Amino acid sequence: MIESLRITDLERFKDDYNDKIFITFDIDWAADDVIAYCLNLLEKNDIKATFFVTHETKMLDRMRQSPNIELGIHPNFNFLMNGDFRYGKTFTEVIAYYFKMVPEAVSARSHCLVQSSPILDAFHDLKIKYDLNLFIPRVSNINLKPFDSWQDDLIRLPHFWEDDMHLTYNDPADVNHYLDFDGLKIFDFHPIHVYLNTEDMSRYNSARSVLQNMNELKTHVNTEHFGINDFFNNLIKEISK
Ligand SMILES: [Zn+2]
Repeated sequence: MIESLRITDLERFKDDYNDKIFITFDIDWAADDVIAYCLNLLEKNDIKATFFVTHETKMLDRMRQSPNIELGIHPNFNFLMNGDFRYGKTFTEVIAYYFKMVPEAVSARSHCLVQSSPILDAFHDLKIKYDLNLFIPRVSNINLKPFDSWQDDLIRLPHFWEDDMHLTYNDPADVNHYLDFDGLKIFDFHPIHVYLNTEDMSRYNSARSVLQNMNELKTHVNTEHFGINDFFNNLIKEISK
């Protein structure tokens, strides 16, 4: 049986994570109803997950009340890299901005996986224990495992599946292609792709101007082709078996 865990549950299992998976979400400024849609699916099926947070929303309270859900930070360094200081004038200010939102965070994954040695040092200084900024896709055929960063209490957790990359790589749709693979299995979803049942990134791109308008957004949901929502539901079925 496959079990889904939160990132911090890893501590309890050491190297015994072959029949475990880790479902993670980068919330990426999704509308509350889009996030709620994912939380409903998780709650209905009693699934544990880790959410990486980009913004203040009342959904954070709902997540914090759930024993199955934990929160990490999802700092966005893209504005800083383009000379826009809305989240801070330096990378440490940007991290502090997100950490203030989720002071309990012990895990971090940057938006667009932006990383550097000084960023890892800054995560470590803030007592972040898990960095999830490495994407090493299933197609690499590399069996993944957690490994120590140079700071002895920061662990790096590469993920082997990410919804947008899954579509971009045109990876096999069968969940068993991933579940049967040995090693650390971290899945990285975005609520918007679960909600839209994205089957092709062009679907998301055409919905970009209406992401906060639920009446408009729901007209963009894919009901014809196998998409990320279908993949997510197949994954959940394997956990619930
Ligand atoms: Zn992101």
